[in-house]
Amino acid sequence: MHKDIATPIRTQEILKKYGFAFKKSLGQNFLIDTNILRRIVEHAELTEASGAIEIGPGIGALTEQLAKSSKKVTAFEIDQRLLPILKDTLSPYNNVTVIHEDILKADVEKVIAEEFIGIDDVMVVANLPYYVTTPIILKLLTENLPIRGLVVMLQKEVADRIAAKPGTKEYGSLSIAIQYYTEAETVMIVPKTVFMPQPNVDSAVIRLVKRAKPIVEVKDEEFFFTVTRSSFAQRRKTILNNLTSQLPDGKSKKDQILKALGHTGIDPTRRGETLSIEEFGRLSDELLLYFK
Ligand code: SAM
Repeated sequence: MHKDIATPIRTQEILKKYGFAFKKSLGQNFLIDTNILRRIVEHAELTEASGAIEIGPGIGALTEQLAKSSKKVTAFEIDQRLLPILKDTLSPYNNVTVIHEDILKADVEKVIAEEFIGIDDVMVVANLPYYVTTPIILKLLTENLPIRGLVVMLQKEVADRIAAKPGTKEYGSLSIAIQYYTEAETVMIVPKTVFMPQPNVDSAVIRLVKRAKPIVEVKDEEFFFTVTRSSFAQRRKTILNNLTSQLPDGKSKKDQILKALGHTGIDPTRRGETLSIEEFGRLSDELLLYFK
């Protein structure tokens, strides 16, 4: 029986053996607590028939736990220096593939089709590089991939915004962009002490389970997201002021914006943060009549 990778001693040994120096610019904060890793994996509810996609395996701490709990793991790692290390640390597992690629540039749909043949249940499980958490999550959700969802570690502050409900100060266009596709829930708060090196911010794990269909049906998704982003451009401003100043030709279409708000029963003096995702959906469909 070999020792788990995610202990302070084994991690130090591996780093020393390969003379590995962390690159801050790549968000390299490795997990050194096996219990935390096991709990993350539990939240993914994998079975022996599941596939797992990992982003940024580092030296393999999470990859190892995923390999033990699923049928197949495919991990994307951008840092070439980690490839020989992963080959070594993951050598006891024959169900892991590491792809040397930037996840933001990868054709994930193709990789899933090739790597997970005969596997129906695929989850993304990762301790994300914190400098690109939002682009990674949005890429994986908007590409309409055949995945059940994501269980990912990220900055607590971003997790709070993603899972926020209307009427809270964290609720905004990011909450809507993600909750449009998924049911979002923070499942763990994680202290800085379980990382090497320790990050400057607190961390959390969120679980995003894809909805069978988006939470609201809208006529034009792109315009819906334009309306939501515009509505939060300046949080102190009313929805009317934000929409007139942000939408294309909004200033000259104030009357039409007022009409659309009236038709959807939304008081123009409300602030974006008080609107539910369903209200944004109805508003966007009304505004579409005047803006497309
Ligand atoms: N999974 C490991 C762990 O938990 O110990 C490492 C997590 S560390 C927070 C983030 C990892 O993502 C690093 O290994 C880093 O090199 C990698 N990474 C950073 N940007 C990436 C990108 N765009 N695509 C793929 N991997 C990336």
